[in-house]
Amino acid sequence: MPDSGAPDAIVVGAGPNGLAAAVTLARAGLQVEVLEREATIGGGARTGALTAPGFLHDVCSAVHPMALASEFFQRFGLERRIELAVPEISYAHPLDDARAAIAYRDLDRTAEGLGRDGRAWRGFFGPLSQRADAVAAFTGDSLLRVPTEPGVALRFGMRALEQGTPLWNLRFAEDRAPALLTGVAAHSILPLPSLGTAGAALMLGSTAHARGWPVPIGGSQAIVDALAADLLAHGGTIRTGVEVASLDELPRSRAVLLDVTPRALDRLAGSRLPEAYRRRLRAYRIGNAAAKVDLALDGPVPWAVPELAQAPTLHLGGSRAQIAAAEHEVAQGRHADRPYLLVAQPSVLDPGRAPAGSHALWTYAHVPRGSTLDPTEMVLRQLERFAPGVRDRIVAVAARPAADMASENPNYLGGDIANGLPDLRQLLARPVLAREPWRTPARGVYLSSAATPPGPGVHGMAGWRAALSALRHEFGIRASPDLSPA
Ligand SMILES: Cc1cc2nc3c(=O)[nH]c(=O)nc-3n(C[C@H](O)[C@H](O)[C@H](O)COP(=O)(O)OP(=O)(O)OC[C@H]3O[C@@H](n4cnc5c(N)ncnc54)[C@H](O)[C@@H]3O)c2cc1C
Repeated sequence: MPDSGAPDAIVVGAGPNGLAAAVTLARAGLQVEVLEREATIGGGARTGALTAPGFLHDVCSAVHPMALASEFFQRFGLERRIELAVPEISYAHPLDDARAAIAYRDLDRTAEGLGRDGRAWRGFFGPLSQRADAVAAFTGDSLLRVPTEPGVALRFGMRALEQGTPLWNLRFAEDRAPALLTGVAAHSILPLPSLGTAGAALMLGSTAHARGWPVPIGGSQAIVDALAADLLAHGGTIRTGVEVASLDELPRSRAVLLDVTPRALDRLAGSRLPEAYRRRLRAYRIGNAAAKVDLALDGPVPWAVPELAQAPTLHLGGSRAQIAAAEHEVAQGRHADRPYLLVAQPSVLDPGRAPAGSHALWTYAHVPRGSTLDPTEMVLRQLERFAPGVRDRIVAVAARPAADMASENPNYLGGDIANGLPDLRQLLARPVLAREPWRTPARGVYLSSAATPPGPGVHGMAGWRAALSALRHEFGIRASPDLSPA
């Protein structure tokens, strides 16, 4: 390897995927430099003080279904490096009239709470949660690859066809199980039902009953800090406050990995890319958006169903039909009266996030891309619906309209937190249809962000796969480097 002071590889962007790429390259013995435009590392996985003194909030990601399930994090030994608290309740779903459906890690306990639909739930998730690693392997790669376990992929596909089409109510007799499933499907911010939402429900839902949805003690920042520590321990460097506007600005290196949007790749690489590829990057579709509200509370959320106080993650929006109607409004470019909310109460498992007795509440509402609306009121109305009196607990509020997301992180154009619409078409062609979509036609240039498979989420898989591709093609290294803790 050259040792002239110039890096072998440069990574632009210190999000979880950029750092996963950098760690993988450094573990292969390369000299790696990471450049990050913000003053702090972490991208969509940062934690900071947003509301009042003593409260610690996740700036973006808070719920980490892939922290234990991702093959990259398993190889990296994330659970041996940071403390991940795994709750008994993976996610919960309040309904009107003080009712709720709850997805426990324990599948049987979940089924027992779902009345006549318990059997249907067990039959839907049982075969997949028993093979959750195979599900994670199949959904964690380019969908063009032949799955190593075709039987698991087939079962996944059959269920996606059921839950992603108008057949989605056939299996269920009551309203709780379909609402519970819709809450997890709606993570994709897409019209329901669709194959994209069904795929998300299957992947996240089977993880919920297998390894659980852990909360990192200290916040999502703990995950990226562990990645950065490993990178530095293996000779890598990180420079913050450096915004890269063109690849021509960078020192010479054999590989450049970009943790950016396809549009930014087009801008940064410019004429190094063939025109036909650039057209495809420009045609990449932006998804709808999230508008975030963080609350500092002087006590627990007064949920109408007391057991919900133990749920770190909740989906608010009511019945299956109500959530589908709200997501339809957003897909039409309108704000829903009663929007879908993702809610996290991490201080339930990690009391250090708030002063004694207080709680840090994390929420976002689905809104049309580019929305400039202050989401505070719509979020509080929806919270009050299921937790009457929550307004009286508020000490401080920090709200971020969707349109403001991109000024903090250019990967979230218009507030699209997925870095591109995650519908089936764009999960297959992410950003283009290719067996190795991380590799671009420009020599040594790779895309490593959530705009490549497997798409959004804190899992490091896109960065890992981009780095493996670069190691193979630019450095002739075919073996996957050992990533385990020393
Ligand atoms: C509000 C919100 C809530 C979310 N909730 C969850 C959740 O609960 N669970 C979950 O798993 N996922 C969640 N996500 C999604 C998750 O955060 C992202 O999918 C993930 O962070 C993507 O990682 P990445 O490395 O591809 O990109 P990012 O994390 O976006 O990182 C990209 C980095 O690159 C930097 N950068 C970009 N362009 C340049 C440039 N030109 N020069 C230098 N630096 C540059 C950015 O500043 C940023 O630090 C959420 C996202 C948001 C915004």
